[in-house]
Formats: sequence, C-alpha cells, structure tokens
Amino acid sequence: MSRFLSAKYNTLEPYTPGEQPKDIKYIKLNTNESPFPPSQKAVEAAVEAARTLQLYPDPECSALNRRLAEVYGLEPEQILVTNGSDEILNFAFMAFCDELHGVAYPEISYGFYPVFAAVNNIPALEIPLRDDFSVDISQYFGLGRTIVIANPNAPTGLALSQEEIERILINNPDNIVVIDEAYVDFGAESCVPLINKYDNLLVTMTYSKSRSMAGARVGFGMGSREIIADLNTIKYSTNPYNINRMTMAAAIGALEDEEYTRRNCAEIIKNREYTALELKKLGFEVLPSKTNFLFARHNRLDGGQLYLNLKKNGILIRHFSKPALEQYNRITIGTREQMDAFLGAVKRELEAAK
Ligand code: PMP
Repeated sequence: MSRFLSAKYNTLEPYTPGEQPKDIKYIKLNTNESPFPPSQKAVEAAVEAARTLQLYPDPECSALNRRLAEVYGLEPEQILVTNGSDEILNFAFMAFCDELHGVAYPEISYGFYPVFAAVNNIPALEIPLRDDFSVDISQYFGLGRTIVIANPNAPTGLALSQEEIERILINNPDNIVVIDEAYVDFGAESCVPLINKYDNLLVTMTYSKSRSMAGARVGFGMGSREIIADLNTIKYSTNPYNINRMTMAAAIGALEDEEYTRRNCAEIIKNREYTALELKKLGFEVLPSKTNFLFARHNRLDGGQLYLNLKKNGILIRHFSKPALEQYNRITIGTREQMDAFLGAVKRELEAAK
C-alpha cells in the first residue's frame, strides 16, 4: 500500500478471481467458462470491427441494445450493456445503495457482492442459507434494503422458481431486487417475464457462460426504463465507452447464432447430469445444479486436499476456504472428454484414500 491511498480503502479486501495459471496446460474446470469456442459469427464480426478501432465505439451500444431487446421481448430503453455483468452489478450497488440504504444478499453467494458493498461503503446484511444450502425466501421480505440474489446461486448451483422470486418482489415494493441470472441458461427459470410487472426488478445476465464469451466482457441489465436510466447515469459518470467495438460486434454476431448457444447449453446440461450421476456412484454428495457447475463433497476426501491433488494431475477445480464450504469443491462442466478425465482422476484419489 502506498502512503497515498485514500483512508476509505485502507481495509478493502478485493475480489479474488479464480486462478488463470500459465505454467502448464490444465483441464480448466475452475472458473465456469464454456469449454466451447465462441460462435464463428461472433469471431468474424469481431475481426471485421477491428478494422475501425481508430474510432470510439457507440456509447449507446444501440445496435446490440436493439437486438437484445428483440431477443428478450423488451424495449431497447429497458436494457443496459456493460463490461461483464460485474459492471452492471457494481452500477446497481452504486445507484441504489449508500451508507444509509443497505443491501442484503445470501451469506453464501457470489464473492463479489461483499466487495461491491465494501468499495461503495454500503452496510451489508448477509442472510444465512438453510442447512441444505437453499435460499429461504421468507427471510428477504420487507427488509428495507436493496436485495441481490444470484439465481441460480453460486457456488451451490441451486435455483429458486420464478414464483419464489415474485414473492420477494411483492414483499419489497419500495426496494430494488436484483436477480443475477449469470447461469440461467443452464436450466433455471428466468425472471425476465416479470420485468414489465414489477418496477423494482433488475435482472442481470452475462455472455461469459452460455455464449462462450468470458474474454469479451459483455453483461447486461434489464428492468424498467427508469431503473435503466439511473444505471445509465452511473455509466456516463464513470465510463461511457464501456463496450469496445470488437466486443460489441462479437456480441451481435453471437445473437445471430442462438442455435449454437442452445446446442452448447444442451450439451453442458447433458455432461452435468452425467458427471453428477457418476460422482454420486462414487459416493459424493452432489447438490442438484441448474448451472454449468457442480458443487460436491465426499466424506472420505478432504475438499482442499482433493483440489490440490487434482491440480498436481493437471486438473483445476475451484475450492473455497470459507469454513461452511471447505469440504466441497465447485467443478465447472466441460466437454465429455474433460469430465471423463476429471472422473478418472477422482477415482484414483478414492483408490489412494482406501
Ligand atoms: N454473477 C455470478 C453469480 C458469477 O458467478 C459471475 C462470474 N464470476 C458473474 C456474475 C460475473 O460474470 P461476468 O462479469 O463475467 O459477466
């Protein structure tokens, strides 16, 4: 820390992204990326856009906005595209919370929420999950705070129904409810159909998972025109050109190939169910996932040790050191071949632990 850092950041603990190691080529099942490349249409559009990089991108991101509006059945003014969904989430914390208006989210959830709260000096209420890791919606009624819920949740993979989210919305009419749908394309129910019914709903999504574009950094928020206008105020006060030309073109290209996205999601769901079944046969406890990852533990294998041993064997999974999670690992779903390599390595660990 330099002697110049503002005192307000003295104790700030930044978010720790999943490892992106460069030493050897791992089977990477640790950061919930897609195992499939982006659509060829996205790649070609990005290459073409690179020819005009001397110009600033469209700050309104109009062409992409219009296409997203068509895909999700909304007006373009109800959508804001951001640099990954991390950016729209941060904008929401900035726009709708402050020192006097706090935020609430599940105690076990996306690790960036506490950081967004801390960096923006927002008091945060962390609500415990039930023992089975499910979200108890009744604990979110009438809190007088902004509510943020990842649905499906991470790293558990468990999803609430649209009806349960609706009950949270009805019971918080004067507060924003942010539903982070980063993983929704892998089998959960989206809340987008509720947007025109509830003026307190903001839904966020990302291209990083189902559309194979984590490296392009595209996320977006959807809500009432008023909510999106507020978020635009934050955007134009921080980074008006938040979406670069290549990313914008690639994102439009990907939407021309929704069939490719659907096929990839179906394949990942198939591989997820296969892997969950195989892990259960090996004696793992596996949470029922609606995402592109599994959260699992084995009573004969220490979670941290399993992570380390697999890493030595060239397979990366994600381990969290929080006491409630330390016996578990989060395993991103890859190709069938990657999952078989992972399962083979796990079987060897179980043999060695006999
Ligand atoms: N929400 C959740 C629940 C996530 O797991 C992630 C991915 N780390 C994000 C949001 C952010 O993803 P991105 O910024 O790549 O869109």
